[in-house]
Amino acid sequence: MGIADDGQGQRMYELVRELFPFCRSITGDGVRRTLESVGRHIPLEIKEVASGTPVLDWTVPNEWNIRDAWIKNRAGERVVDFRRSNLHVVSYSIPVHRWVPIDELREHLFSLPDRPELIPYRTSYYKESWGFCIPHSLLESLTDAEYEVCVDSTLETGYLTYGEYVVPGDTELEVLISSHVCHPSLCNDNLSGISAAVFLAQWLQSLPARRYTYRFLFIPVTIGSITWLAMNRDRVGRVRHGLVLTCVGDGAPFTYKKSRRGDVEIDRVVQHVLRHSEAAFRVQEFFPYGYDERQFCSPGFNLAVGCLMRSTHGTFPEYHTSADDLSFVRPEHLFESLARLVDVIEVLEGNRVYVNLKPEGEPQLGRRGLYDAIGGDSHAANRQLAMLWMLNMSDGKHTLLEIAEMAKVPFEEMRAIAELLEQHALIARADSLDEPNARLAMVRS
Ligand code: ZN
Repeated sequence: MGIADDGQGQRMYELVRELFPFCRSITGDGVRRTLESVGRHIPLEIKEVASGTPVLDWTVPNEWNIRDAWIKNRAGERVVDFRRSNLHVVSYSIPVHRWVPIDELREHLFSLPDRPELIPYRTSYYKESWGFCIPHSLLESLTDAEYEVCVDSTLETGYLTYGEYVVPGDTELEVLISSHVCHPSLCNDNLSGISAAVFLAQWLQSLPARRYTYRFLFIPVTIGSITWLAMNRDRVGRVRHGLVLTCVGDGAPFTYKKSRRGDVEIDRVVQHVLRHSEAAFRVQEFFPYGYDERQFCSPGFNLAVGCLMRSTHGTFPEYHTSADDLSFVRPEHLFESLARLVDVIEVLEGNRVYVNLKPEGEPQLGRRGLYDAIGGDSHAANRQLAMLWMLNMSDGKHTLLEIAEMAKVPFEEMRAIAELLEQHALIARADSLDEPNARLAMVRS
């Protein structure tokens, strides 16, 4: 079980590299090009929602596109050039082309005085304005009396674009995997999540069968999830588990942010997987900030959706700066994130409920050779105890994960024990009695 890196980490990184140059925002051609690239890896369905469409308490905004932008000095030299970095332009800047006195220009310039060589990332989606983001060292070198400023952009009626891909399963119960597609050339906070989702979808495709249906969303943050929720109200009740993926390409330990409900199956599964991965990790309680879990976990939906990260937004020095580049994410970190996601899905898929077929007294294990079957190594006593846990708690009420947690063994080990006991006709799957899943799963009330 689990996966080994057969070059996937490198392929995940190549996808990040391919997507890096596109000037994404919450709408526009940068998102479309990104989804086109993703669509070459998985059969993505592209959705376009018209500007002005009411979505929950919001409205789909006008579409923003940009061709070029620059600031020229008196000598006609581009001192700031969008072609060198798309971070230079405040996202959603309205068009402008005129000479601007330096004092006025400074009001439109954003920099990081404490990190003078980095370009910050700024947006102005819902307030019409224009601006440039530049290294502080460059800002301090601007001494001409005026500069020629050009933002060759359009902000017009158009569409919000997002991508959706469904991997069908045996049931209509869904696992929702969401990543955002709205940041320009930023790797960890954006492209790492897209890449992890794409390769997770490919892995799911390769399985012979799936218990759950998996729905992948590639959406602009906030307005994208609000739009999706508005358009899929009738479908939302099918979502049993979900994860938002972001910042999964750097080398920090994993961070899991729990769903708003805090103790649903996905919360338990991710923590179980991280606890048994033998690496440090952090768990955060839900808070109403961050990424699209804010919308999925709004009280009217309250979906069982958590958020898997490594570094967390706002806390790493590269966050929302030009330092979140291709050198900040690494193939091995991307792969490790994929591997943990695969572990999580394997637990979700295998987290069944069993009944003991010999529940009156303990069945005689020695007579069946079951002590021998698991004996011999240093963990034998623990595994025998795990088998007793499995037999005792297989009452049609406890999931395999709950029993593994009671016995303090990895899910995988308990699943192997369950298979062995099943072969000896001591337990049987109680799918019709799958109550704990129903109890844990999201039911929209
Ligand atoms: Zn961000």
